[in-house]
Amino acid sequence: MRRFAVTAFGRPLCTLVEDDPVPHGTEVVLDLERCGVCHTDLHLREGHYDLGGGRRLDLAARGMTLPATLGHEILGRVRAAGPEAGAVEIGRRVLAYPWIGCGTCHRCRDGEENLCAAGRCLGVHRPGGFAEAVVVPHPRYLIDVEGLDPSAAATLACSGLTAYSALRKVGGDPARDWLLLVGAGGLGQSALSLARALGHHRIAVADTAPDKRARAASLGADLVLDPADPGARAALLDLETGLAAAIDFVGTPETTRFALDSLRRGGRSITVGLFGGEIALSLPLLPLRALTLTGSYVGNLGELRELVALVQSHRLTLVETETVPLDQAEEAMRRLAAGGAAGRIVLAHAP
Ligand SMILES: [Zn+2]
Ligand SMILES: [Zn+2]
Repeated sequence: MRRFAVTAFGRPLCTLVEDDPVPHGTEVVLDLERCGVCHTDLHLREGHYDLGGGRRLDLAARGMTLPATLGHEILGRVRAAGPEAGAVEIGRRVLAYPWIGCGTCHRCRDGEENLCAAGRCLGVHRPGGFAEAVVVPHPRYLIDVEGLDPSAAATLACSGLTAYSALRKVGGDPARDWLLLVGAGGLGQSALSLARALGHHRIAVADTAPDKRARAASLGADLVLDPADPGARAALLDLETGLAAAIDFVGTPETTRFALDSLRRGGRSITVGLFGGEIALSLPLLPLRALTLTGSYVGNLGELRELVALVQSHRLTLVETETVPLDQAEEAMRRLAAGGAAGRIVLAHAP
């Protein structure tokens, strides 16, 4: 089998050829059919996140080793299962939950494996989906996606799940309270569709790009704003019931400030985007305005199961996808880095 791997941080992916994997214990081997290409893959290839103020989060120091096979939006067909995997239907098309934890800590036992401090995620710490076959450590991480478009279904494991988990943190009354989505790229568009399906009736979308604002309007946003417009914040503060919650899919100092400053008292801002940077925060304003600033990182296994069911029952298409051959992984990464992808690029392989 071939895999397309990072062998040196900051360098192009290399093609590695090795023996087909044999499943041990509870492991399941998937023949890869689709794997989405995510901005996180770009960060992983670079080997760091920008923390602001010249500081970096070094991924090698956080358990990422080379060579690393990226790709965490993995969809495939079950090829083989280990002797302790139980009844796993060979040939079944499944989506793999990638945000796997140690399995023994309190976070993992509470079903929050994505928050495990000793994560063993597919496409980060374990080999991911930029490969012809993927080993999943246990069948419980597999979700049936028969009937869904395979490229669209693959993107649920990160892009869709990230939007869904952030929305689950909004709280309040979705029929009455205003929700602001900052950033109308793939995640923001997914969140808009999902928010509707979850019963949100008052959704504002902010983006500096006119084409993304137009897209949000065509998808049914109730209010569309340019955050660079001096009147945008006032428009949000003037809303009848105020702005109850914001989800920031960008994560720059500017977007964080815009979201925080636009909230009503008791409002909540949820940061999802990993663009990078830092802000100065006036601490008395947190209690005086009773604000909550929280982060949301991907989502848990239960949420991914809920999301797949929601997408199936509402027949939702969350993001536009462009499917390209698996062996063009490097080119896909380059196009994503250059901003040259209209929708989600999904790598495809026909075993
Ligand atoms: Zn991702
Ligand atoms: Zn754990």
